Amino acid sequence: MTFDVITIFPDFFRSMLEYGVLKRALAGGQANIRLHDLRDFTDDRHRTVDDRPFGGGPGMVFKPDPIFKAVAALEAESPGRRFPVILLSPQGRLFTQALAEELMRQDRLVLICGRYEGVDERIAEHVATHETSIGDFVLSGGELPAALIMESVVRLLPGVLGNEESACQESFSAPRSGSSELRESSVGAALVAAHGQPQGLPPRRGLLDFPHYTRPAEFRGWKVPEVLLSGNHEEIRRWRRRRALEKTWRRRPDLLAGFPLSDEDRQCLSALQRERCEPSVPSESSKFPEGEQHQ
Ligand code: SAH
Repeated sequence: MTFDVITIFPDFFRSMLEYGVLKRALAGGQANIRLHDLRDFTDDRHRTVDDRPFGGGPGMVFKPDPIFKAVAALEAESPGRRFPVILLSPQGRLFTQALAEELMRQDRLVLICGRYEGVDERIAEHVATHETSIGDFVLSGGELPAALIMESVVRLLPGVLGNEESACQESFSAPRSGSSELRESSVGAALVAAHGQPQGLPPRRGLLDFPHYTRPAEFRGWKVPEVLLSGNHEEIRRWRRRRALEKTWRRRPDLLAGFPLSDEDRQCLSALQRERCEPSVPSESSKFPEGEQHQ
């Protein structure tokens, strides 16, 4: 899969390409990351990429022309082929694991990194196919968001993670389909009806991951749950599933909406419901009540 990144700071990315999954994916040929300096698509002596905003106000705005030319040059490399052109923007749709899973199926992706006050709106309207945000906060440039998207997509590509299992059991991963036992979660739907799915958010999928432990079995008096030391694989599987459901129920009940549940899952959630009538929905003031710690 090829990523074409359009940026005024190509060097920003160099070190991250030398570590971890990105390094492995580049070496293994699963990913190819091409960095394009936006200034190479300017015509003037100063290689100007920005200008003052019409209507006045502070800051500078990326001009449409260099970005248009950069994307056109990439399109000209593969005539007739359509590929996603993602404009990084805090005003875009939120990036999720579901979008990462969708993007990994593409063989090419273009990422446009804005700076300053942002990018002339005509790029969002006529050039980009996606406007994507990595969260409800404002950064100074699209480089970190582009890096984040590449990292999360690349680790899904076959052969990049050592163990293929790890990608599909992680938080937010699409539930495995094909089991006739699985039914849509009415518990989750009821929670969303009660608490509301925030407007404009893409549908979410997948549970949070179960807790992980490693040696030593006891550290400063804090013990690893007994069942994980038992060697009983079926018990361990059930314990992990229960803890994943419980964490999701307590911290992110919105994820349970429409999530396919097995009979065992529903029994587990009913037990949780009996223990308390309400899940603890994280709020501004008390993120993880009920003794849950943010890790
Ligand atoms: N004036 C804009 C913010 C511009 S920030 C506004 O208030 O909406 C400058 C650039 O940083 C943006 O063009 C975008 O490419 C990038 N950026 C900042 N925050 C981002 C976020 N949360 N997600 C994705 N890109 C972001």
